[in-house]
Amino acid sequence: MEIVKMLVPQSKYAIKCPHEMKPEFIIIHNTANDASAINEISYMIGNNNKVSFHCAIDNEKIVQGVPFDRNTWNATDGGNGTGNRKGIALEICYSKSGGERFEEAERLAAEYTAYLLKQYGWGIDRVKKHADFYPQKGCPHRTLQEGWDRFLNLVKSYLEEKPIPDDNIESGSDEPVRIYQNGSTTENVYADTACTIKIGSLYPREKCDCFGVFNDRAMVRYNVNNTSNYKIGFCKWLGGVK
Ligand SMILES: [Zn+2]
Repeated sequence: MEIVKMLVPQSKYAIKCPHEMKPEFIIIHNTANDASAINEISYMIGNNNKVSFHCAIDNEKIVQGVPFDRNTWNATDGGNGTGNRKGIALEICYSKSGGERFEEAERLAAEYTAYLLKQYGWGIDRVKKHADFYPQKGCPHRTLQEGWDRFLNLVKSYLEEKPIPDDNIESGSDEPVRIYQNGSTTENVYADTACTIKIGSLYPREKCDCFGVFNDRAMVRYNVNNTSNYKIGFCKWLGGVK
């Protein structure tokens, strides 16, 4: 189970996670999108909408964007809503088109949910769905369509039949954020590791945060023109990773 932390900078807490939180349960969502977990989190951190969630999970990894001791705007139940103020929000990726990678993402989400339940000493009754707080949205749409009890049983199977080894579970999850220092030329920043969509660039010698290397690209979080806006994207030049 690979867990990557890409945490929202504190300067954006006021928008994304303004309240301290003592979590009481887990809320399952589907993204209704076809983007990877890294892209979901980078988009969530990068924009200034009061929409947020703690983790996105795809068929390969769990990406955490907000610490569990902060609230997120995930449950559509208002500023003091129980879902928004007490739930750990998990988004399962690739639910728009579904298929094998969604099923794999759902399995990983079930495994991670079981892991969190064990960490907090909670039972299966602590697994909620977005629709419990705001039925109109029908979220998690594909997980519900394919059977909510089926998903809960999957979580239970990880809880009971396949105990999760505590040893290697956190490996690689808590890497410190590194620094990226650009070289002497302008470096393009792309939305994706295939580098097809340019979202911005770094000045020569510009320094910013780096979350590590994925698919041979450096993932950077940089400040947009000295505003309070951050963007996360990928650079081709790996020499800047310090
Ligand atoms: Zn939802």
